Amino acid sequence: MFTETFKKYSWEQEQVSLYAKTATDVQNALRKNKRSYEDFKALISPAASPFLEHMALLSHQETKKRFGKTIQLYAPLYLSNECQNICTYCGFSLDNKIPRKTLTTVELLQEIAALKEMGYQHVLLVTGEAQQLVGMDYFRKMLPVVKKHFAHIAMEVQPLDAPNYQELHALGVNAILVYQETYHEEDYKLHHPKGKKSNFVYRLEAPDRIGGAGIHKIGLGALLGLDDWRTDSAFTALHLQYLEKYYWRSKFSISFPRLRPHVGGLEPKSVINDRELVQLICAWRLFNNDLELSMSTRECETFRNNIIKLGITSISAGSKTNPGGYAVAPQSLEQFEIDDNRSPEEIAHVIRNAGYEPVWKDWDLVLQHTSL
Ligand code: SF4
Repeated sequence: MFTETFKKYSWEQEQVSLYAKTATDVQNALRKNKRSYEDFKALISPAASPFLEHMALLSHQETKKRFGKTIQLYAPLYLSNECQNICTYCGFSLDNKIPRKTLTTVELLQEIAALKEMGYQHVLLVTGEAQQLVGMDYFRKMLPVVKKHFAHIAMEVQPLDAPNYQELHALGVNAILVYQETYHEEDYKLHHPKGKKSNFVYRLEAPDRIGGAGIHKIGLGALLGLDDWRTDSAFTALHLQYLEKYYWRSKFSISFPRLRPHVGGLEPKSVINDRELVQLICAWRLFNNDLELSMSTRECETFRNNIIKLGITSISAGSKTNPGGYAVAPQSLEQFEIDDNRSPEEIAHVIRNAGYEPVWKDWDLVLQHTSL
């Protein structure tokens, strides 16, 4: 389990060594074909800021070589906003008095129809953490419904036990995303005071259980701004490096959620500005040219337009972050605010204008059988 590796590193020491990286460390990292964890730290350090243009060029070239000029399109589908956890940064937190909703089968079909109408073949199912209402029984009922309509299913749900992940795999789930939020154990406790999510280690070991279940793709990430974004990104890289070694049959994706305003708002502890986010995205690409790098509609139009050529491989569009948001209950409360409200068609147009091809489907079950 990753916990053993994690325990060998101290947050404070990693932070100090990251901020001590020099221009020479960055130049050495840029010269290499294969970059180490220490190189990644150099590339996300303040010392790399003057090299951003060079990093962007390399990241563009690496991404084009590995993925061609394509951007995958996907949409989140929120199944429920029920949640038994208190998370200080989330609109669905148990202590927020908001109307709660879990989609019925009929409502799910309405939402699916709306997404299909937009052209989507890849869907990301999202729920809060409420075992009774949206646990395995609910997934057993809903996944076969979803499976009939989409070529690729990803899920962002509460951490589960290993047999549950095996069952999700059998039910046709292709990818599971579980963000650690922060790898700073003490601060993690402050932001997750109540509910099952307060168990730091259970969450930290979830990707091990996902990999062990043979899920094709594992998504990682930290909530940027909850703690020092650079140190959290370094620990995410450690986590990825470990998982790639042990679960080499799985693919990996990284997302870059930045703290957004929400009901009962939380101020970010460390703000990551646009330039730094570009630096981080390029650093990920230079660290690992096989990674899927995913960008959500949390970011604004201008930022998303400009990032297309710099390393991103998948992007959501026209997203709703509330259950029923596409067709059933468009006015209900969102998990986080969307900053880019353009339709999938508009985003596809922007992608084409950048000289890239928007990809609605790049997956079939047959690929999974041949790749495993
Ligand atoms: S982040 Fe997830 S677990 Fe935490 S309150 Fe929001 S929905 Fe619940």
